[in-house]
Amino acid sequence: MSEYLKENPTRDGMFGDFGGSFIPPELQAEMDKITDAYHTICKSHDFINELRSIRKHFQGRPTPVYFCRRLSEALGARLYLKREDLNHTGAHKLNHCMAEALLAKYMGKKRLIAETGAGQHGVALATAAAYFGLECEIHMGEVDIAKEHPNVVRMKILGAEVVPVSHGLKTLKEAVDSAFQSYLKDPVTTIYCIGSVVGPHPFPMLVRDFQRVVGIEAREQFLEMTEELPDNVVACVGGGSNAMGIFSAFLDDPCAIYGVEPAGRSYETGDHACTMKFGKPGIIHGFKCNLLQDDKGEPAPVYSVASGLDYPGVGPEHCLLGAKGRVNYVDANDTDTVDAFYRLSRMEGIIPALESAHAVAYAFKLAAEKPRQSILVNLSGRGDKDIDFVVDTYGLPQ
Ligand SMILES: *Cc1c(COP(=O)(O)O)cnc(C)c1O
Repeated sequence: MSEYLKENPTRDGMFGDFGGSFIPPELQAEMDKITDAYHTICKSHDFINELRSIRKHFQGRPTPVYFCRRLSEALGARLYLKREDLNHTGAHKLNHCMAEALLAKYMGKKRLIAETGAGQHGVALATAAAYFGLECEIHMGEVDIAKEHPNVVRMKILGAEVVPVSHGLKTLKEAVDSAFQSYLKDPVTTIYCIGSVVGPHPFPMLVRDFQRVVGIEAREQFLEMTEELPDNVVACVGGGSNAMGIFSAFLDDPCAIYGVEPAGRSYETGDHACTMKFGKPGIIHGFKCNLLQDDKGEPAPVYSVASGLDYPGVGPEHCLLGAKGRVNYVDANDTDTVDAFYRLSRMEGIIPALESAHAVAYAFKLAAEKPRQSILVNLSGRGDKDIDFVVDTYGLPQ
């Protein structure tokens, strides 16, 4: 493991000035137990072997790295995709959900609890719970329940209990509050499973470590295919878990790295979620990060065409990597993202998730700026969940 990964986060969960833990004392005691258990269990051969076996036989890993032949010819650069869309359940999220659930099993927990926005994290966690025979409780705002019907049905089919949250704006933020309240009622038999590299320590570290498999595989596969390292590595950033997964393997290499945030409809109207570009240090959900804030310092309402990216905060490690200048944080707007969604579908036969299409859109731009270079994109998920929305909202291209 690189020196960087060993040194970050610090023992108290800091990534430079970011991260840490800002939560009530009763919750802190539980987080400390999870941290201790993780440090012990992640060195256990049984744990490592079981996780390896799950990744191979249940998730279908390693996922391939794919060379986009037709697009590369059209772009004048070499475009490669790490195919996390081919991971079981169609996105990278299962990488950390299976590992979090395995950790729960080793800690003797009986129940998994989490919030979900669009339902992607809820479905991945419900899948992990079914695999291990654990109970699963997913908190979801009533607005999101109405909007994301197929994922609600998926969770129920998988045996999870979906708890509707009916206060406030009835979306993700209230769902987090509700899930934490329920967790505090029974922290002994339950474990809280966060959906990205966010939240109080140890979650940003834990989720990054469980997602590292993406980068480790991709680096090896890319070297084997091309006998060199990629010139550029690109991933979309919501909370930032798929990005940390792939970036973590290339931090010590001479590669340019790009994290792509959603520029949404416009910078001016606030209809975006460019946290790294416009956020100021603040605290959300128990950790410190760059945060899009309103006049009162509360998390601002944010927007993206991809519901997996509209979060006003961002993982603390991204804040550190941005401050160090190691990763470039850039963005792609809705229009370019939808164009990329269709272009990848029609040129390569791969329908990307709208989240992932942000990374693809930026890669297209990069190809024009850096002709003949190689670009490795983490294709974090498949787009089946988005097809009706895209066609109804934007129509089919001519
Ligand atoms: C949830 C999701 C994301 C955003 O989450 P990160 O933690 O930023 O990776 C990206 N892509 C897909 C397909 C998702 O489901």
